[in-house]
Amino acid sequence: DAPMVSESDPQAKSLGYVANASKADKAKFTKFAAGQNCSNCSLYQGKAGSTSGPCPIFAGKQVAAAGWCSAYVKKA
Ligand code: SF4
Repeated sequence: DAPMVSESDPQAKSLGYVANASKADKAKFTKFAAGQNCSNCSLYQGKAGSTSGPCPIFAGKQVAAAGWCSAYVKKA
């Protein structure tokens, strides 16, 4: 499997990615709402029930299903 995105990755930092959505910077990213995480983001490509999966924002890496970043788009 592809490696996990590191929170210290420059792109992860600029997008405010965190592996645990509850750690999202809510002061900086005021659009964050409780309950949002990668597993219910329309960009998440992991299988249902997976703990991690690909995301086109972070090509070649995997994001945590429980993660979050400011590119979040609610799954329709
Ligand atoms: Fe997670 Fe969506 Fe951000 Fe990708 S775009 S890291 S799936 S919140």
